Amino acid sequence: MTDDLHPRTKLVHGGTDRSGHHEMSEALYLTQGFAYPDAETAEARFDGSDPGYVYARYGNPTVGMFEQRLALLEGAEACFATASGMAAMNASMFSQLQSGDHVVASRALFGSCHYILDSLLPRFGVQTTLVEGTDIAAWQNAVRPETKVFFLETPSNPTLEIIDIRAVADVAHEAGAVLVVDNVFATPCFQRPLALGADIVMYSTTKHIDGQGRCLGGALLGSKEFVGGKLLEYMKHTGAAMSPFNAWVMLKGLETLDLRCRAAADSAEAIAQAVDGHSAVARAIHPGLPSHPQYTLAAAQMERPGTMVSFELKGGKDAAFSFMNALEIVRISNNLGDAKSIATHPTTTTHQRMTEEDRQALGITPGLIRLSVGLEHADDLIRDISRALDAA
Ligand SMILES: *Cc1c(COP(=O)(O)O)cnc(C)c1O
Repeated sequence: MTDDLHPRTKLVHGGTDRSGHHEMSEALYLTQGFAYPDAETAEARFDGSDPGYVYARYGNPTVGMFEQRLALLEGAEACFATASGMAAMNASMFSQLQSGDHVVASRALFGSCHYILDSLLPRFGVQTTLVEGTDIAAWQNAVRPETKVFFLETPSNPTLEIIDIRAVADVAHEAGAVLVVDNVFATPCFQRPLALGADIVMYSTTKHIDGQGRCLGGALLGSKEFVGGKLLEYMKHTGAAMSPFNAWVMLKGLETLDLRCRAAADSAEAIAQAVDGHSAVARAIHPGLPSHPQYTLAAAQMERPGTMVSFELKGGKDAAFSFMNALEIVRISNNLGDAKSIATHPTTTTHQRMTEEDRQALGITPGLIRLSVGLEHADDLIRDISRALDAA
């Protein structure tokens, strides 16, 4: 594959590794092991002088096709696919850190990422400082001599704050640390953190990359040195590899990723505008709305503002529940990036375990709804959402 092809073309053909049968669709190699032609080859595979496959915990041809295709889209030297997004996040930390190290991360994070940083790492002697991600001086002030990793998510969950990746990467590099970006909400179609200075990109491929709500998966992308070095070493021995079946599903998801993300982003913009004008809504949040606090940054950093819309209802929790219960097309769930549009009430579900004080600090009010826009026709979605807002 040449680099000058459009992303959509790379997503259809990239990484394809055909067997002797020249199958059209990518083969599903549902195998954990590989038979070596002779003992010498087995020895060479284990000492690394022969690059062939050894064991599915560290590599499999179907998983390999998925990794290559995603790396081509991202413009990354290398990719490692994991069993879930959280397996990827966990590996991005545990493969690089040791007792005594320090991590700086933005406060507005996916709940389980928050748990790893705030509860798990400290148990192993790694201290973490959580900062207001949009405040570049706060990142700067949090740096210590032992700071090794910076972590952020942009747009953030669920309030869609935008963090300046390039500015944070500069602070990280000044401090001798690496920047890991959770790029799930943005999708690889609309934001390229590596091109903005990040060192490692993390995905939950469960979201837009599968895009049809079927399988869990994750991925880490970065330099050959990191992915083939510390990360491979960690993954090889700890076991959270992506299954070949899930990789096959994800490969098929990649083929339509660009088309799906653009269609959902079109609808998200139209829905954000419709919601913004409704009398039941106190505040509509979408990086494409001029009222968004980081509207200019979003326009500079992202190709499109994405497929998520959040909004705050004036009537608090009661209004939020009335709204959700009145929806007929949009489903109530907690996944995102699915073909089916999804409404989530963060206060009582994804962010239920957080203290009221922490929720307030993140702008997660009882009236807040997070909407993942799917592939239904925008007119039908707007009609469904508007009717439910009238009921709220
Ligand atoms: C879903 C999600 C994760 C975790 O991914 P899983 O595949 O569910 O393990 C991490 N970060 C963000 C932003 C997510 O949306």
